[in-house]
Amino acid sequence: MQLGLDKHYGPFIDNRFATGSGERFDARDPATGELLATLTECGAAEVDAAVAAARAAQPGWAATPIEERSRLLWTLADRLAGDMTRRAHIDAHDIGRRLGETTYDQIIAVGHYRYFAAAIMTHEGFGRAIPNGHFIAKREPLGVCAQVVPWNVPTIMAAAKIAPAVAAGNTVVLKPDEHASLSTMELCKLIAEIFPPGVINVIPGRGAVTGQALIHHKGVAKISFTGSTEVGRLMAAAGAEALLPVTLELGGKSANIVFPDVTDFDAIADNVAFAAMYCNGQSCLAGTRLFVHEDVYRPLMDALCSRLARAVVAAPFDEKATLSCLVSEKQGRRVLDYIDVGRKEGARLLTGGSRRQIAGCEAGYFIEPTVFEARNDMRICREEIFGPVLSVIRWSDYEVMLAQANDSTYGLAAGLYTRDISRALDTADRLQAGSVWVNQYFNLMNGTPFGGYKQSGLGREFCHETLNYYTQLKSITLAKSVPSPFYVR
Ligand code: NAD
Repeated sequence: MQLGLDKHYGPFIDNRFATGSGERFDARDPATGELLATLTECGAAEVDAAVAAARAAQPGWAATPIEERSRLLWTLADRLAGDMTRRAHIDAHDIGRRLGETTYDQIIAVGHYRYFAAAIMTHEGFGRAIPNGHFIAKREPLGVCAQVVPWNVPTIMAAAKIAPAVAAGNTVVLKPDEHASLSTMELCKLIAEIFPPGVINVIPGRGAVTGQALIHHKGVAKISFTGSTEVGRLMAAAGAEALLPVTLELGGKSANIVFPDVTDFDAIADNVAFAAMYCNGQSCLAGTRLFVHEDVYRPLMDALCSRLARAVVAAPFDEKATLSCLVSEKQGRRVLDYIDVGRKEGARLLTGGSRRQIAGCEAGYFIEPTVFEARNDMRICREEIFGPVLSVIRWSDYEVMLAQANDSTYGLAAGLYTRDISRALDTADRLQAGSVWVNQYFNLMNGTPFGGYKQSGLGREFCHETLNYYTQLKSITLAKSVPSPFYVR
């Protein structure tokens, strides 16, 4: 497959790729080590230029009829839909995930642009009659949105940030992750053909340099971030300092609960494996703490471990692959360290636990799907590993289990499996998580609110309400006539 990549990408500002004065950094295939392209690390000068372009474009974009903004987003979706195969290959090369997954990312991203193209058409204000007139409450865009995203699903991340912001009449300066910039840089070529200059600007670079310059820029009106809780705090602090609205989609350590009434062990084993291992476990939503009732522990764990023993760890482009390569050596070492921590803490290794060497992909960190029997107070149950590592906790007392499921600093998602509908509803009500899935995991269809409780974030994405986070309300009051004198007697 021809990736059609440029040799080098500079910042994308005002619908043009600039050279940029910063140092160059490499984008390498983490599986093979092959150099894919180089990028300019943007510093204060590039951030200034990008924010200036976005500020200049914003009034005109805000004044563009909603129908036209919607049409342009829809056009972008159509163009992306026609280029999915190439773009899925770019992401698989850039981040090491298997091609089947990065293909699915494209479908979700296209859906996102279409969803917000449609949603903005019904993002209405409100109003009512008052004595002697009316008030209207209208929604206005905020201005320039600084958007910083991680590497795990780069195509979805760009869509989740750009689509609602731009639909609502804002302009954007987006910083992709330094490990996963290429599909976003390629997206810029389509943006240049579809949108007016300055509406969407993209500045590559590392967080400590480019990200910091962007979030502290005085011309920014909103910060939207997806990434770790640790960096999320820096985003919140920057927002507090400048009194800006901040949306944060952060980490997770999600509970997935199996009740004693289940019988379909094969299907549930498959679903909980998918919940924990999809994206090679590099997903904020991953169901990494599996609570299994004593009564069904043996059959479920037999089904799970035999299924995972059949999982194929292989090159990203191997059609048989279930799991593939982690994004970087750093991430690979981090996951192996956590596996070591689990062993040392006394968790019982049930399957996996090692790095695999894959022919032709010697640079890559391919890690077996790993399952520990653990206790909820162990580090592997409390800290986000972001790799294919599942901790299983036995339970017999419902209240104790529920307290443990909620005993986490995170609260992004949760899953549960039962045929007892009242138990399911009661548990869903009591779980401290932004998304709860019953008898399935990972529904993120367009329109489903997505975001975290506790230290998993602030705000909701993927849904109509997201448009509220990208707008502010202005109330305008209209009187039929100036009131008769009533103030100074
Ligand atoms: P990270 O927080 O290190 O990096 C995310 C982004 O922030 C990158 O673009 C990075 O360059 C930038 N960044 C890093 N340090 C910065 C700084 N000091 N100032 C400004 N920007 C900075 O996250 P990561 O390790 O790359 O990604 C994994 C994390 O992202 C996990 O915690 C995962 O749970 C989270 N995540 C959350 C969601 C969600 O929607 N909740 C989705 C995907 C990933």
